[in-house]
Amino acid sequence: MCAECLSSPCRTGCPNESERKIISSCGRCSDAIFAGDEYWSNPDGEPLCESCVDDMTTKELLEYLGYELRTVGEDDYD
Ligand SMILES: [Zn+2]
Ligand SMILES: [Zn+2]
Repeated sequence: MCAECLSSPCRTGCPNESERKIISSCGRCSDAIFAGDEYWSNPDGEPLCESCVDDMTTKELLEYLGYELRTVGEDDYD
């Protein structure tokens, strides 16, 4: 926990906030991912921040992962 703002991670405006090292940025919302943060990484190594995963519906998540919603056509039946 930060001694200045008593938060973890630091609150916006905390003098210690700028010292946090930006490692990457989220592939969806472009928010910075700082050292010590937890994030999701897909097989291509594209990061997805935790708040995005919490915000996304299952459908959005599947679309993000490259799944498509398809209708089964009559030709697809054996
Ligand atoms: Zn702080
Ligand atoms: Zn995000």
